[in-house]
Amino acid sequence: MFTTIDTTYPVARQNHLCEVCGPGIKAGDQYSRTVAVDGGDFSVFKCCLEICLSVVNKCFRDDFYDYLGGGVTGDDAREWAHNNAGSGARIDDPDALKLLQRLDHHNAQPTS
Ligand SMILES: [Zn+2]
Repeated sequence: MFTTIDTTYPVARQNHLCEVCGPGIKAGDQYSRTVAVDGGDFSVFKCCLEICLSVVNKCFRDDFYDYLGGGVTGDDAREWAHNNAGSGARIDDPDALKLLQRLDHHNAQPTS
């Protein structure tokens, strides 16, 4: 069974990868860090406070995740955003739109 143990909002001492948008957490940024346990396996989910956490919370609200898969994953959050903003979306969710724009922006960055 998937259980969230603790969520904290530390300030990053170094850059971290956000589970949702990728290279979104920079040193000095406050971010969301959730520790969970699933059948004895610990996992840590880090994401940006701005936008990404809102999208993750909306996935929970919409029950948009795989119960057996251990809560909302980055994949779930990105899929939810694609379903809720842009062409063919049911609604235009402002957070979904911002996340898609951020993903586009990251994709446009050189990887080196
Ligand atoms: Zn992020």
